[in-house]
Amino acid sequence: MESGLKVVRELEEVEKLLPLSKEEEKAFKEVTPVYPFSSTVYYLKIAKRSKAVRRMLLPSTKEIDPAIQSAGEEDPLREERDEKVPRLTHRYPDRVLVVTTNYCPVLCRFCMRKRNWRRGFFVITENEIDRILDYVRRNTRVRDVLISGGDPLTLPLDRLERLLLGLKKIETVEVVRLGTRIPVVAPQAIDEDLLKLLEKAGKVWVNTHFNHPEEVTEEAGEAVKGLFSVGVPVNNQTVLLKGINDSADTLERLFRSLQKIKVRPYYLFHCDPVRGVMHFSTTITKGLEIVEELFKRLSPMAIPYYAVDGPGGFGKVPLMPKRFEKEGEVYKFRSFDGREFYMEDR
Ligand SMILES: *Cc1c(COP(=O)(O)O)cnc(C)c1O
Repeated sequence: MESGLKVVRELEEVEKLLPLSKEEEKAFKEVTPVYPFSSTVYYLKIAKRSKAVRRMLLPSTKEIDPAIQSAGEEDPLREERDEKVPRLTHRYPDRVLVVTTNYCPVLCRFCMRKRNWRRGFFVITENEIDRILDYVRRNTRVRDVLISGGDPLTLPLDRLERLLLGLKKIETVEVVRLGTRIPVVAPQAIDEDLLKLLEKAGKVWVNTHFNHPEEVTEEAGEAVKGLFSVGVPVNNQTVLLKGINDSADTLERLFRSLQKIKVRPYYLFHCDPVRGVMHFSTTITKGLEIVEELFKRLSPMAIPYYAVDGPGGFGKVPLMPKRFEKEGEVYKFRSFDGREFYMEDR
C-alpha cells in the first residue's frame, strides 16, 4: 500500500484537483509548516463535492490561532506515559494498543495524534514488532490487540504480516483490531494481496472511521465488501466534530448509510482536548442531546456508544442520555417517545 498509494502534499498539486479560495490558500501556506497537509486524489475528489469533507481536509488558520493553541494538550490521553514497551500502550487489563506508524495518507485536521506529525514519519521496526509479540505472549490476560497508527494499512505488507501472523500464533489473543481510515480515504487500496493476508491472519476485525455520510461512497462500500468476503467484520468509530457532524440529522444519515453497507457504528467519540484541534470541539451537553434525539429516530443497532476518553489517561467512558432513575423501591423509566413508566425491582 506504501506501494502505489499516491498522495498529494503541495499546494500547486492540490489546486489542480481542488481549486482553493483565497482564504483557503492563505491558510494552507500559514498552517502547513506547523501542521502539514496530505491527501489522496480520491479524497480530494470527495472534498470537491462535500463541504464537510473539505473542512476535515483543508488546513484552517484556527489550528495555529493562539486561543486554540493555548487550549488542550499534546497528549491528553497519556498514551506515551502508559507505554510498556516501545509503541505498545497497556491500559485495560485485557487489551493493548499498538501504534505501528504515524503515517497516514490523509492528515485529518482534527487528528488526536497531531503531535506526531512534526517528528517526521516512523514505521514500526521488525525488532519492535518482536518485542511487542514477546510482551503479548508473556501477558496472557491480553486477549484483544488494537493495531493503530497513523494508518497500519500503510505498513509494508511484510511488516504487517510479521505482526499479524505473530499474533495469530499467540493462542491467548482472540481478537486483533485494525484501526484504519483506508476504506474512507483510499478504498481502492484494499486489494487482493492485503485481503489474502487478513484472511490468513484469522482473528482480524477492522475498525474504520467515517465521520460524514458524504464519505460513504460506492467505492467505500466495495472496500468493506472485500473485507467481509475474507471474514473481517467492520465497525466504525466517528468523532463528533463541530460544524461537520454535530447534528442529529447528519449523524442519522451517517449511521443509516453505514448500516446500508453493513458497517456497525461502534463509537461516537467526544472530541479529545488536543492542542490545535479545539475548534472542532462541541460540548458534552450538545453531544448528549444529539444522542437522545438519535434514540428517538434509530434502532440501537445503528447507534454507537457516545464516549469521552478521559484526559489524564483514565480510559473511555460511554455516556448515555438518562432514561431511568430509582425512586424508593421502584425504577422510573422514560420511553423513546417521552412517556413515563415504572417497574418494581424484582
Ligand atoms: C481505546 C483504547 C483501547 C480499546 O478500548 P475499547 O473501549 O475496548 O474499544 C485499548 N487501549 C487503549 C490505550 C485505548 O486508548
